[in-house]
Amino acid sequence: MTGDLAGGQVIIELLYLIASVLFILSLKWMSSPTTARHGIWAGEIGMLLAICGTLLHHGIVDYKLIFIALVLGTIIGVPLGEVAMTAVPQRTALSHAFGALCVTLVGSAEFYLRAPDISRFMMAVLSLEVILGGLTVTGSLMAAGKLQEILPQRPLTYKGQNLVNFVLLAGALAIAVSLVLHPEAALTFGVLLIIPIGGADMPTVISLLNGYAGLSAAAMGFVLDSKLLIIAGALDGSSGLILSIIMSKAMNRSFTNVLFGAFGQVQAAAAAGEEARPVRSATPEEAAAILSAANRVIVVPGYGMAVAQAQHKVRELYDALSKRGVDVRFAIHPVAGRMPGHMNVLLAEADIPYDRLIEMDEINSDFPQTDVALVIGANDVTNPAARSDASSPIYGMPILDVDKAHTVMVIKRSMNPGFAGIDNPLYYLDNTLMLFGDAKAFVGSIVRELTGGHGG
Ligand code: NAP
Repeated sequence: MTGDLAGGQVIIELLYLIASVLFILSLKWMSSPTTARHGIWAGEIGMLLAICGTLLHHGIVDYKLIFIALVLGTIIGVPLGEVAMTAVPQRTALSHAFGALCVTLVGSAEFYLRAPDISRFMMAVLSLEVILGGLTVTGSLMAAGKLQEILPQRPLTYKGQNLVNFVLLAGALAIAVSLVLHPEAALTFGVLLIIPIGGADMPTVISLLNGYAGLSAAAMGFVLDSKLLIIAGALDGSSGLILSIIMSKAMNRSFTNVLFGAFGQVQAAAAAGEEARPVRSATPEEAAAILSAANRVIVVPGYGMAVAQAQHKVRELYDALSKRGVDVRFAIHPVAGRMPGHMNVLLAEADIPYDRLIEMDEINSDFPQTDVALVIGANDVTNPAARSDASSPIYGMPILDVDKAHTVMVIKRSMNPGFAGIDNPLYYLDNTLMLFGDAKAFVGSIVRELTGGHGG
């Protein structure tokens, strides 16, 4: 019997070990588009093995509830996995909320199971787990609500907001410390579950919350003595943190600014009531003529291409121009769209060759030798004010230097601003032509012009 148990434990540990290795490989492979698919598979198989290992646990006496939970989870999970690409950030936020809720509930349950014989170390770990878990639940739900536009998108700010947040956080930590010193103060745990997170309205915050969720899972690993959870939590926590740092760098925000909630307040509304400045616009026929006369074209995709789902039309444009001998490449800004890798994923979906996708740092010096920069639904990532206007909220953010191309053509529906809510001086330059319209429809019209009506 003891032998059986020990044998079972060895199998569980082995499954966990393989799962941990697969999680590490998954992250490694996902860092390159060519191996990303392997990464997804490794992650999925790792998670399956981890679940199997957990189900073999001798502590489980009844599988009925687990089975019902698995069925329910699958029913909810499948449609959640099929959301449009543009809704992925809010979907990710929801997943974090579920994961964090789970961690928080397990943490609370462990407290009740172990109290009052609970060591100070264990109490400290449980407190950390529940603080980070609870904060991630409410923070992620708020972020998802804002991204889905259920909550107002604009940052909800009020006087003394940072102070209130700091007081709340300090309160939570004080309660945690008092729990460590006096474990009987259990009821106050509930307070920790509802810590609000100020101004949490951006994908960077989701990524940061991802980091918190990972840390709380790692803390849970210590509580449950699970090496798998410690490893998976640490991987999740560190990757979330690193991604947040990369994203804040690409948006030229200091990481402390993100951490301490002043986030989102830099957005200025487009100057209301300001007299409209003249811009030059062109038709699809004119745009097609300019493009077919070019030798070198750089396409700059942005959030609008994602919204319009124009990537397949963009592929047709790429094919039509390439056939005519035009050299077409794609400039990828690290924060174009609404999540890291947004443009890479969309362009890959349309089978545009990877070697045509060039990162910002590498392609920026090529714009002066480029005949046409074709901006498709991108705005902030092309805004020259980031280089020259010290008063601009995005001053210092690295941008794609499209204004240095001989001709710039910008496809968007109106003069409305992008994510940062600010005007773009690019549109008023002498070498810029505005192509007003929906990205998918406009690119389709250009393709029709280029192919004599056969494409588009
Ligand atoms: P953007 O600045 O938000 O501009 C997108 C533009 O697309 C808008 O100006 C809009 O203009 C146009 N558009 C919307 N729907 C369209 C349609 N159907 N057809 C054609 N155009 C359409 O986008 P971006 O240049 O990609 O910059 C990304 C922004 O998001 C940056 O400010 C970045 O800091 C922020 N952000 C990104 C991430 C990330 O991880 N990628 C994370 C957090 C924040 P009209 O309304 O006139 O059409």
